[in-house]
Amino acid sequence: MSDNKEKNYTSLQYLKGVGPKRAEALASAGILIPEDLLFYFPRAYIDRAVISSIRQLSVSLRTEKDVFFNNIPNLKSENTLIARIINIQEKQYGKNRKMLICNIQDETAGAKIIFWNRIEYYSRSFKEGDLVAISGKPELDIKGTITFHHPELTKLDESEEVDFSKGILLPIYPLTEKMKSSGINNKALRTIIKSVLPLYLDNIKETLPEYILKSNKLPSIKDTISLLHFPENISQTNLANYRLKYEEIFFYEMFVNLIKSNFKQRYSGLSFNVKSQLARKLVDKLPFKLTDDQKKVIREIADDLSSGKPMNRLLQGDVGSGKTIVSLIIMLIAIENGYQVALMAPTEVLAEQHFRTISKFIDLISTDLKIILLTSGLKASSKKQNISEIEAGKANIVIGTHSLFENEIKYKNLGFIVIDEQQRFGVAQRANLINMASDSLSDSNTIPHILVMTATPIPRTLTMTLYGDLDVSIIREMPKNRKPVITKIIFESQINSVYDFLREQVNNGEQAFIVYPLVEKSEKLELKAATEHFKYLSEKIFPELSIGLIHGQMSWTEKESIMLDFLEKKYQILVSTTVIEVGIDIPDSNIMVIENAERFGLSQLHQLRGRIGRGDRQGYCFLVTKDNFKYQMARKGIKEDDQLAAIIRLKTMERTTDGFEISEVDMKLRGPGDILGLKQSGVPDFKYINIVQDGDIISKAKNQAISILGGDPHLRFTENNIIKDKILKMFKNSENYLRIG
Ligand code: ADP
Ligand code: MG
Repeated sequence: MSDNKEKNYTSLQYLKGVGPKRAEALASAGILIPEDLLFYFPRAYIDRAVISSIRQLSVSLRTEKDVFFNNIPNLKSENTLIARIINIQEKQYGKNRKMLICNIQDETAGAKIIFWNRIEYYSRSFKEGDLVAISGKPELDIKGTITFHHPELTKLDESEEVDFSKGILLPIYPLTEKMKSSGINNKALRTIIKSVLPLYLDNIKETLPEYILKSNKLPSIKDTISLLHFPENISQTNLANYRLKYEEIFFYEMFVNLIKSNFKQRYSGLSFNVKSQLARKLVDKLPFKLTDDQKKVIREIADDLSSGKPMNRLLQGDVGSGKTIVSLIIMLIAIENGYQVALMAPTEVLAEQHFRTISKFIDLISTDLKIILLTSGLKASSKKQNISEIEAGKANIVIGTHSLFENEIKYKNLGFIVIDEQQRFGVAQRANLINMASDSLSDSNTIPHILVMTATPIPRTLTMTLYGDLDVSIIREMPKNRKPVITKIIFESQINSVYDFLREQVNNGEQAFIVYPLVEKSEKLELKAATEHFKYLSEKIFPELSIGLIHGQMSWTEKESIMLDFLEKKYQILVSTTVIEVGIDIPDSNIMVIENAERFGLSQLHQLRGRIGRGDRQGYCFLVTKDNFKYQMARKGIKEDDQLAAIIRLKTMERTTDGFEISEVDMKLRGPGDILGLKQSGVPDFKYINIVQDGDIISKAKNQAISILGGDPHLRFTENNIIKDKILKMFKNSENYLRIG
């Protein structure tokens, strides 16, 4: 887009075919000056060579249904058809609502389009006999007819019909409602752009250095624009699109890697001797062997520790992959180098759990290391005592929550910080923490090493963008003694066999979760439903067993205390209405029944299942769903895509326990935007790059960004001027982090 500050759209209205009313409509879509039109790209192309016929489409829709377990369809994908409207009818439905049904036909078969809104507009704009391009996501209706609901509809005039039959590509532009009502249809926009392009193309300046275009075989920006508006074939548009994607992600990668490298240059890191007696001794005394992945990440971390540069690393590994022991080994290295270490847990209960676990491990090597737990529950006197031991440097390991860094605690030589995160701990929070910690070190320009641990497996491409400023280590392999939880889809008519199985296991000393989803719209109704279900289970199904209930309306402390009761075996079964957020480990709970499992998201299901099967005994997870639930869902008006997605979720859970594989499927089903609430996470909304599909481009751009910064860390070379200027413009508010030029 153009960077002109003083934008007004008067210049547009004098263009051929525009005028004041259309200029206003274009302005509302962000098109303010003629150059903006050049960057208003088609959203699709109609290509006779690849366009499907109605018959092909209906065959592929039917088979898609049969094969989707193995080959997940792209649920968000669109299809484009060319067909003729054979009739248009308005139909009444409900009280005084109308819908518009268009029957269409091509040489192979017929199909249907339904509009629920803006009926007047559509019946005015389209007539019987029109040839139209239909783009949208088709469904098969009950009779098996292909049906589009509110597709993009583009009328093709005679000249376009001729072009199309000759095999010329027809670009389809995104049109806003305002454009449409001011008479800008696809054809009109194409004509406008055709007349603007030769006049203004020369004004467009290249935004990538020549050597980047060359090394990636990218078209120039001018060629890119021409190819997108007037392509001869699809491979040209692909090439042009590739350039846009590459450019977009390249600048983002430049930005995060600039932050990353500046960080390492600005501060010095502590250089540790990583040959640690304590660590060696602990590894020798462990009742298990470290997995290869654990060893691999320990090596990666150790390399950072001895590099003299501050470590800023993410350790990613599914629940139970053994991150704690990895962090403890690193802590011992730091301690032996004369530093204090801190472990920050997301909740107090988890801090306590870490304290117990780590104390037990430390007991194995019988040293006199001092481990301190800082929680709000401490008596004032013991808290004071703890704080003074930290200040005096007597404490070696300090464990707590956020409060570790919120109050006036003065650390003594804090050299290594572990953040065990639950929600994302952002760049700013980390920066804050680093500042506080570096005060405790004698050299004020030195900062401690930081390890962020997360149990949320996310796809690789998402990690690259979400945690772009961190180095990443991944544990994929689970400890050998961990048996994958056996997972089965169960229909409600089979539920009694599950209850029998559960009864038998519980009588053998196991504990079980029964999870009941949030279903009601109001909290009151929800609590009522959950309580009734709980009553039913405890009175009718398991009268002889002790059952607890935990639900979303309880306070955090109430939930915590119920979980602790469960841990102490006051209950044999815990009925839960929430994703069991409180991360207390219940080692003897090996069974989970998830009711109405089709209602849960994939990552939720994975997270839930992660609560069981943590010991060395076999875990079981039952995903209960309605008999013939597709029918049940269809009856409730749940869209076909969502029905398919629900089936894919359950089948995926049945097939694998690998969190990374599950997260890939999840991202395919939902798109990256919904995972982790990306909007709040600071990852930009990419216009061209698709985080799901463009992993290769992302890696390439990332590598190139790193290599450029390796040679020219402050972008001072003339050949990189273009990059420098664009980065400064794009990331105006981040100038403080970026030391360039
Ligand atoms: P998480 O990655 O979820 O933090 P933990 O560190 O809590 O996982 O480890 C889960 C359990 O597995 C702990 O009881 C831990 O002692 C055990 N564990 C860790 N590494 C191994 C291993 N290599 N072999 C067997 N058990 C292990
Ligand atoms: Mg953990």
